[in-house]
Amino acid sequence: MSVSVQGLTKRFGQEGEAAAAAGVTFQAPTGKITSLLGPSGSGKSTVLRLIAGLEEPDEGRIEIDGIDCTKTPARSRGVGFAFQSYALFHHMTVHDNIAFGLKIRKKPKADIASRVDELLALVQLQEYGSRFPGQLSGGQRQRIALARALAIRPKVLLLDEPFGALDARVRVELREWLAEFQEKTQVTTLLVTHDQEEALELSEHVVLLQDGKVVQTGSPHHVYDKPATPFVASFLGGANVLHGQIKNGRADVGAFAVEGPQGATNGMAVQAFVRPQDIRLEKPSEEPSNNVQLARIERMTRVGGQVKLSVRVGTGEPMTVQMSKTEIDLLGVQQGDRVMVDLKEAKVFVEDYTI
Ligand code: ADP
Ligand code: MG
Repeated sequence: MSVSVQGLTKRFGQEGEAAAAAGVTFQAPTGKITSLLGPSGSGKSTVLRLIAGLEEPDEGRIEIDGIDCTKTPARSRGVGFAFQSYALFHHMTVHDNIAFGLKIRKKPKADIASRVDELLALVQLQEYGSRFPGQLSGGQRQRIALARALAIRPKVLLLDEPFGALDARVRVELREWLAEFQEKTQVTTLLVTHDQEEALELSEHVVLLQDGKVVQTGSPHHVYDKPATPFVASFLGGANVLHGQIKNGRADVGAFAVEGPQGATNGMAVQAFVRPQDIRLEKPSEEPSNNVQLARIERMTRVGGQVKLSVRVGTGEPMTVQMSKTEIDLLGVQQGDRVMVDLKEAKVFVEDYTI
């Protein structure tokens, strides 16, 4: 059951004001997780609510499994949703929460009971049917919310920041759990998230949104390795930005000269995005070269197995570097030491680039 949207537009304000969704077009492949990824306010929830049928588009078309359902009422679209704001009913038991959608569809009692048992087993909470939501942990509540969304055997599952309110450890656990769960059930899933790690880890397809528009779509690898715009490059990976211009066919940015964008000519202003994990520090024995320069370590912070370093090349701006603790230990460097900074990878764009 693929989902396809074409030219989806939704305005909340007056004509002329920026639309919450502006001509959104993408396809979510059958049986996979597709992430809608973007910063807060980029229109992710609006797009999901349009697909769910909770909002009506001003323009555009929504197809589920090749069938136009732009005008179909929410209840008849065959979608299940679990939204952060769409909490469990607190006065109902877990069992009744899961049964809710089946009851309002007037399914036979015996069928409802067996379906709820099946779903409780699926989310591995068999023993919890008679509890109330207040007697569950945050992670357990989210699993019940998923079971409730799945009760009607939806063709499509819509999840809007489903782990948003949970603490970091539970988020990561649930993320792994959702990946396994999705593999088992193979239900076409649309996942809204502002968390790039969540999107890159969980999904096979990523749709990147900015200001209500799709700026790039593709596999997690593709959008990460080949960002289409400076926005995507800086949004995915928290990059260092170096400004400069094209000189002798290369991008001359700060102390470095890296490969320029295709078609760029001498004198063009450029910006290079360099991810902290795409920089390596080396012993200061090497000769400097185009992408290897001498620098001083100004600050080092250890976060678990990773070390974040702030280095300054000459009199330039400080740059952030991320390396594993093992790599840093092998190198044997400390704050204040001189090192060589090696830019392994830079994404370079012409400066006046607009989307
Ligand atoms: P995201 O989920 O990416 O954070 P939203 O889809 O919630 O973004 O919002 C996109 C834009 O639309 C924001 O500017 C938001 O303020 C606006 N918006 C969303 N829902 C409404 C609404 N019901 N009424 C008015 N404006 C809205
Ligand atoms: Mg949202």
